[in-house]
Amino acid sequence: MADIIKLLPDHVANQIAAGEVVQRPASVVKELMENAIDAGATCIKLIVKDGGKTLIQVVDDGSGMSETDARLSFERHATSKISSAQDLFNLATKGFRGEALASIAAIAHVDMQTRTAANEVGTHLKIEGSKIVSQEVIATPEGTSISVKNLFFNIPARRNFLKSTQVELRHITDEFHRVALVHPNIEFHFYNNGSEIFNLPIGKHRQRIVHIFGSKMDNRLVPVSEETEVVKVSGFICKPEFAKKSRGEQFFFANNRYIKSPYLHHAVVAAFEGLIKSDTHPGYFLFLEVDPSSIDINIHPTKTEVKFDDENTLYAILRSTIKHSLGQFNVAPVLDFDHDPNLDTPYSYKEKGAVIPKVTVDASFNPFQEKGGSGGSFRKQSTKGWEDLYEGLGHQNDHNEFSSVVIESESEEQGTLYSGEGVEEHLASTFQLRRKYVVSTVKSGMLVIHQNRAHERILFEKFLGEITVKEGVSQQLLFPLELSFNKQELAVVKEIHESLTNIGFVFDSLEKETVKVTGVPMMVPESGIGTVLDRLIADYMEGYSDGSISQAEMLAKALSRNLAVRTGDVLDSESQLMLVNNLFACKEPNLSPFQKITYTIISEGDIDKKFN
Ligand code: ADP
Ligand code: MG
Repeated sequence: MADIIKLLPDHVANQIAAGEVVQRPASVVKELMENAIDAGATCIKLIVKDGGKTLIQVVDDGSGMSETDARLSFERHATSKISSAQDLFNLATKGFRGEALASIAAIAHVDMQTRTAANEVGTHLKIEGSKIVSQEVIATPEGTSISVKNLFFNIPARRNFLKSTQVELRHITDEFHRVALVHPNIEFHFYNNGSEIFNLPIGKHRQRIVHIFGSKMDNRLVPVSEETEVVKVSGFICKPEFAKKSRGEQFFFANNRYIKSPYLHHAVVAAFEGLIKSDTHPGYFLFLEVDPSSIDINIHPTKTEVKFDDENTLYAILRSTIKHSLGQFNVAPVLDFDHDPNLDTPYSYKEKGAVIPKVTVDASFNPFQEKGGSGGSFRKQSTKGWEDLYEGLGHQNDHNEFSSVVIESESEEQGTLYSGEGVEEHLASTFQLRRKYVVSTVKSGMLVIHQNRAHERILFEKFLGEITVKEGVSQQLLFPLELSFNKQELAVVKEIHESLTNIGFVFDSLEKETVKVTGVPMMVPESGIGTVLDRLIADYMEGYSDGSISQAEMLAKALSRNLAVRTGDVLDSESQLMLVNNLFACKEPNLSPFQKITYTIISEGDIDKKFN
């Protein structure tokens, strides 16, 4: 038989390898920025168009390259950074594989201009799909500028796989953050479609964090610092009260490189134990320095996963260091005289969620009205509608043994049947079981409704309707509320602005970090606006990579999740009844927006069987 094994032609091998290094525009951004840092740049500009699909350009003032190096830099395994296998164990640079430029050039149109200090003129190279198409001498500033256009031009499948411009831009922004956070001694600029979205001057770590994530970060940060023989830890954690619903700002860097480490993440979370609710995530920016020979970065092509020699020790050190910081900065409950008694949560309350206090304003209140009207004092407004589900929440948290079963309505009167699998007309008894289920009777037996999921379904359909038909009712705020957002959050608010307006949010302007809210949907309690918006943004950002559902649906889901009554909330009889009635008025009453079963019916036959 003839020999059948052939070596792949270079361009094919390059394309295959490229797929590993370049997954999306953000990967190019990461590689180019890291090269600029390795070249000793003090100022780096990132220029992006259309989420990197049209253009990604990185301009640095680093060492530049000679003509030969410029050409060589695009060869696979061409690197100036290591020369022997031994060097791999003592890496001081970000790059070392010599693969990035070769990979990028294999699947895009690349234009490079570069000059070293020693040369008067520079080199201008154009490469398309690994082929040098032109090389010229050029007058250019010292340093390197590389622009990458038409990414994946020769791999249509990859090009089609790219997500929306906004999604790709967010991935790029994430990479930009990761690189910029760890190099506060380098100036960064980031331009998107011609406008500058980040301008980061040289400063300290703290300033860099604040420049990126907004000024509200400043008083949230607690410094962390520890030096042992194994590791030097520095950086910041966010105060426990600012723990977020989403993973948000969690950054580990090891030897100036962004890394992911579920194990070390766990150490941080363990240090926060008891200080934050179990479904929230602490923010952190932690910089670890270890002996380069004790860390192996070589296990993954995109180089965010690392292996430490002694993970257990690192874990223990990290956890105790953070605990110490939390204690030292008085954010953990410790014995001291300025101690905030509000932090003393009785043990039995620990698992119970905090209830947002409700403030209701009497819209018909008129101070000039004659006595006897509704004037004189604020009173609770009793409106028929969904808002009522909130009335009474949290007011009856009498924590006695018997409150787990609240039997509210005694009426046994039989009425006509509700539509479909509905409830016996509204005087049917309902009661709440374990603050989790609402139980009622239906023709065929016993109806058990999961209060949280059912309310999610009801709210989901309500909001989805409002977003699409734009009929949300807004409640004007007496005093506009000022909320501060960082740039990323602001971008999300802008993105979903129209939908937010449709459901009743009114913003006065979205140009600055501080946004004034002048109106909110009827459902949202005034005191909870900030939280609701924060969570909404977080949910939206988390859901962004899932391009399969519409923005309206994503928002309606997020809103329903954040506003629905929860397990543990006490519902009065009126609210219970409303929950039942409104659930069965839904288009899809049987599933929550998250595809969980909302209710079940235990048939009389099944109950009978139990008595046999
Ligand atoms: P690596 O970074 O792993 O060495 P790359 O393919 O990213 O591999 O780059 C290849 C080589 O090109 C680098 O080793 C470096 O010598 C040179 N190079 C790349 N980008 C720059 C830059 N912005 N400034 C100076 N030299 C650069
Ligand atoms: Mg590199």
